[in-house]
Amino acid sequence: MKLTTFGAAQTVTGSMHLIEHNGHKLLLDCGTFQGRREESYHVNLNFPFNPAELDAMILSHAHIDHSGNIPNLTKQGFTGPIYATNATMDLADIMLRDSGHIQENDIKYLNKKRRKQGQRSLEPLYTQKDALLAMPQFRSLWYQEQKEVIPGVKAQLVEAGHILGSAAIVLDYEDEAGNQKRLWYSGDIGRFDVPILRDPVLPFDAHTVMMECTYGDKPHEDMEDSYEEFVDAIKRTVSRGGKIIVPAFAIGRTQNLTYFLSDAIENGDIPDIPVVVDSPLAVNASDLYRKHTECFDDETWQFIAEHRMQGLDFHNVIYTRSVDESKALNDWNEPMIIISASGMAEAGRVLHHLKNNIEDGRNTIMIISWQAPDTLGRKLADRERKVRIFGEEYFRKAEVVTIGGLSAHAGQTLLVDYALSSQDTLEKLILVHGEERAATALTEKLAAYPDLPVPVYAGKGQVFEL
Ligand SMILES: [Zn+2]
Repeated sequence: MKLTTFGAAQTVTGSMHLIEHNGHKLLLDCGTFQGRREESYHVNLNFPFNPAELDAMILSHAHIDHSGNIPNLTKQGFTGPIYATNATMDLADIMLRDSGHIQENDIKYLNKKRRKQGQRSLEPLYTQKDALLAMPQFRSLWYQEQKEVIPGVKAQLVEAGHILGSAAIVLDYEDEAGNQKRLWYSGDIGRFDVPILRDPVLPFDAHTVMMECTYGDKPHEDMEDSYEEFVDAIKRTVSRGGKIIVPAFAIGRTQNLTYFLSDAIENGDIPDIPVVVDSPLAVNASDLYRKHTECFDDETWQFIAEHRMQGLDFHNVIYTRSVDESKALNDWNEPMIIISASGMAEAGRVLHHLKNNIEDGRNTIMIISWQAPDTLGRKLADRERKVRIFGEEYFRKAEVVTIGGLSAHAGQTLLVDYALSSQDTLEKLILVHGEERAATALTEKLAAYPDLPVPVYAGKGQVFEL
């Protein structure tokens, strides 16, 4: 079997890995690369292989950096099945259409700039319609259901504990010498004891582990310490009479946060202030979180029972869909928490809330997840004083709070456990989905285990014979 790491290779976004076995081709994830607009457009547009030659694809989870380029893949000739869990399939449906909408808007912006420079206009990467057209190719799998996805390769999806429906992809096959082998691709690794979801399953009997290492350099702060920081920041802001703006990924982070906040309000840890989820995508995703009860862990069922809820309906959370409702939030002159997408503050309604609130020292901007270089979110997390929003310069007076411990990604300690858990059978350890600093730190940490193969920090287009 041949594996080529084409995306999230020595970077975090754009996950995409090609498997070739007995003349057949299988793609693991097909995410969009995120960075500077024009560069991203070209990276995403041109696949390093012919999409028409692929036999099948498997999607680990619905986040756009793993799924976002699927409509472009099908548009460019891929006609095979796309395997994913039921919840991932539903989430991908709303996620990809939303992404199509963003692509259509992005290209308008880019073309305006290009026209000024006398360059020709570009087509969007894909449209909402292209996203819709990709959906019939999806085939759902249950967790642990085995399926021969290409001849000689049996795949199963295993709980990753990262977002609703998220999975690691496990491939069983025979190598050239006729030995039974297992490749375990982590997708994004979640954490133990996060709200709503079950814990991630660690690899077993794997010969190759290809794993993410986003937080390879950071042992996460204790969830409880982070929770305290989170509560303190809210209390501080409320006492100033300010608003808390949280750029959050519509899927996963938003639902975890609403769970946390509802719990904190119920317990009296924070004042009973409105929690607004202002992102149509996040609102739709929240509906899917309520629908896919098969993904809930035992604690969530207990929470639902204790609070006599029908499902995950938090009574103090306000969901806004329309633009008018969103705009009206600006006139509310009272403390509130606004959770809005996008998670890296690159697009979406959160930009309006940032623009309206960033120059008021009473307010707080709360950064709760990893921010890609060159994004507005990264600039805010780095506490830059002057930032550009919609082309205008703003002088930041709002407080910035970064809370690492609430991340949906595994920290260093769990990543070490993940690498070690197949120690007896492991022949190759491949690190993807992480910046160099993170991969180096994790590699140093793993050097304490001499029996473990030395990790390879996979480059773009690097080939592995497995
Ligand atoms: Zn993810």
